[in-house]
Amino acid sequence: MSVNDIKNAAEFGRFVYSNGPGYDEPTVRAAFRNAVPLKTIAIYCYDPRAAEIPSVLAKVLPDEIYPGEVIYDAAGKKVGGTATIMPVVVAGGRAIDALRSITIGHHLFGVTNVAVVHHTNCGTSSFTAPGLIKTYLAEEGEDISTVYEKDSLAIANLAETLDHDVKLLRASAGIPKSVNIYGYVFNIDTDEFTLLISDLGTKQ
Ligand SMILES: [Zn+2]
Repeated sequence: MSVNDIKNAAEFGRFVYSNGPGYDEPTVRAAFRNAVPLKTIAIYCYDPRAAEIPSVLAKVLPDEIYPGEVIYDAAGKKVGGTATIMPVVVAGGRAIDALRSITIGHHLFGVTNVAVVHHTNCGTSSFTAPGLIKTYLAEEGEDISTVYEKDSLAIANLAETLDHDVKLLRASAGIPKSVNIYGYVFNIDTDEFTLLISDLGTKQ
């Protein structure tokens, strides 16, 4: 591994699929569908104590694999993987930050399930939305009161925030109606999941 000095930034154009010779968007999309057997997107907190969430989820759910293995082609290039869970790691595991990633994950690989995971003793339960907004104004001189949806900023009650987030996903046009959405609490000390919400999608 190394960090290279940039000599010719334009050279990086050849590492973009849509710049490839004979690029055909539907063909490339079909190839991506075969490269990764993604089934489930897991949204969870960037707290280092929560890093095991996708691995533990793969142990407790049937037929899920994480992290799996990277697949190489004959030339030694990385061309895919065996993981069925794709992580979206954001503050508090809040759904609002995951919307775009779910839409794109579904377009590329197809998504069957979305698992929203909020964990015990989360840092986002150590402050309140008004407290964050007030402090940011005092310390940074910026009013962020209308930048983010207030109910997505802090966790005051794990069951309520999970309910909020599952409803937020279900109401979004960017989440396919066929997708199952689950809301889990993860106990950070015991690595145990509790399934609180199971919102099944329409059958495909
Ligand atoms: Zn957290």
